[in-house]
Amino acid sequence: MNAADEIKSKGLKITPARIKVLNTLGHDGLALSHTELEPILGKIDRITLYRILNDFEEAGIVHKVIDKDGIARFAVCRHNCTTQHHNDTHVHFNCTACHKMLCLEHTQVARIPLPDGFTTTGQSTIVYGLCKDCN
Ligand SMILES: [Zn+2]
Ligand SMILES: [Zn+2]
Ligand SMILES: [Zn+2]
Repeated sequence: MNAADEIKSKGLKITPARIKVLNTLGHDGLALSHTELEPILGKIDRITLYRILNDFEEAGIVHKVIDKDGIARFAVCRHNCTTQHHNDTHVHFNCTACHKMLCLEHTQVARIPLPDGFTTTGQSTIVYGLCKDCN
């Protein structure tokens, strides 16, 4: 599915800015921060970018991961996420040398058993270390 179809299928209006953001995020399962996205996107201002990422997250198009420095990073969802529910149950890898955050699509997070009366609505597992390029 191309970016425009993806945006439309999640009930959002197609705009050139939204297409550009989604195409920029779409590569290699990398989770990018605002600071990394801004220079690539050029003309899209900060507030627009903030809103687009917010809308995308709510629509189930991207998921957010917080890296080891507390910075929010965004990656494209590939698990049929919906407006109600994100289904990204993969592990994230945060490289301590180049600071890249990667979606490990094929590595599922371990199910954490909870005490009675607790419900899981989300879970994040981040592994820290050296990526392929830094090793
Ligand atoms: Zn998702
Ligand atoms: Zn690295
Ligand atoms: Zn991910």
